[in-house]
Amino acid sequence: MADAVFTVDGDDRILQPGAVEFDGELITWVGDPGREPAGVGTEVRELGGLLMPGLVNCHGHSPMTLVRSAGDGLPLERWLSESVWPREARLSDDDVFWGMTLGAVELLCNGTTTTCEQYRHPGPVIEALVASGIRAVFTPGIFDVPGSGREDSWPALLEDTCRIFDEMDGREGRLQVGFGPHAAYTVPPEGLRAIAEEAQARGALLQIHLSETEAECRLVEERFGKSAPRLLADVGALAGRVLAAHAVWVDDADLDVMAEFDVGVAHCPGSNGKLGSGVARLTDLLDRGLRVGLGTDGPASNDDLHLWDEMRLAAILARAVAADPGALSSAAALRLATRGGGEVLGLPVGSLEAGRPADLIRLRTDDARFVPSVTPAELLGHLVWAGAGYLVTDVWVGGSMVVEAGRCTLIDGARAQAEVAQRARRLIAS
Ligand SMILES: [Zn+2]
Repeated sequence: MADAVFTVDGDDRILQPGAVEFDGELITWVGDPGREPAGVGTEVRELGGLLMPGLVNCHGHSPMTLVRSAGDGLPLERWLSESVWPREARLSDDDVFWGMTLGAVELLCNGTTTTCEQYRHPGPVIEALVASGIRAVFTPGIFDVPGSGREDSWPALLEDTCRIFDEMDGREGRLQVGFGPHAAYTVPPEGLRAIAEEAQARGALLQIHLSETEAECRLVEERFGKSAPRLLADVGALAGRVLAAHAVWVDDADLDVMAEFDVGVAHCPGSNGKLGSGVARLTDLLDRGLRVGLGTDGPASNDDLHLWDEMRLAAILARAVAADPGALSSAAALRLATRGGGEVLGLPVGSLEAGRPADLIRLRTDDARFVPSVTPAELLGHLVWAGAGYLVTDVWVGGSMVVEAGRCTLIDGARAQAEVAQRARRLIAS
């Protein structure tokens, strides 16, 4: 029971007070506890504060906590080649395990219950994700690593991903494995086609960076004579479950292609802004009926993993670009961070309704940011325009408490912080 429950259901109901009942992993009832008291034998907890669905991160490379803030001020191509890749080349599996663990601590403690990750080193990433208790979709990165041998080529990495899918998909009921071709400019067309065929044969999510920067789009046009969305459609890569990260430099014809194939989009306004990549056409994406969620991207280009900032930036930029405060409502912004993300990933998360997974978070509201809260509309406004991770006290994933009083219950946040702080020094050394 809480003072307020944001259901983010089809009617965006706000209950004051409200209660969420769950049995095992699933929500069994959401409503007004005054009207429908709990049945005999139900344990009732008076939490106060506010309950809402856990936030859904649709695009991240969270082990990059190890290179947080690397290459600040460089454009994407130079940022990758001069700053990020040299450090990543020195990563051991243990480094990645601790990098992902710290990422999971940061995500969970700030209210994110589901994250969609793309990275190399699949073993330690999966180990850290599963240990943390977070719900995850993991798409191991597939591309030809510059200057490497056969083991780091797209065919070998695709083979690895197929094996990982067959062994790990569905692990603990919280891990889905997908396929992560990096982008249309880093994987050749025959690779994109082959990866898509394997993903589609397994009903798996294909996650790809799409039209992130203007320079990358020029490269794809010069090389293939068409845009990246058109190229992906032509090689059959958009036919299954597809998640496109960024989609900043897309024209109307690209949007038509994406709508035709029902491509989901991870909108990453913080990363796109920090790297000077541009501002995605959020309201145009939504107007076309595309499924849209939010992504933090990696912590080197953000630099934190606080989805609250992405929600607020998405709404601020949409309204500022349109010069219209009605361009994106507060309720629509909250949907992007929750239910919209679930729809993009094809998971029934992001909404508090009977039958859905009990992935929810509690925020304390005894804070200046929530005072006064005279009407439900103002309370919603505070959540979207002033909500912050430090207010998150408790987090449940699949009915299990994974954060209690601000601390992870399953993993050691202080140790993860110390490990990453120390390991990052070795990576930076030339
Ligand atoms: Zn990315």
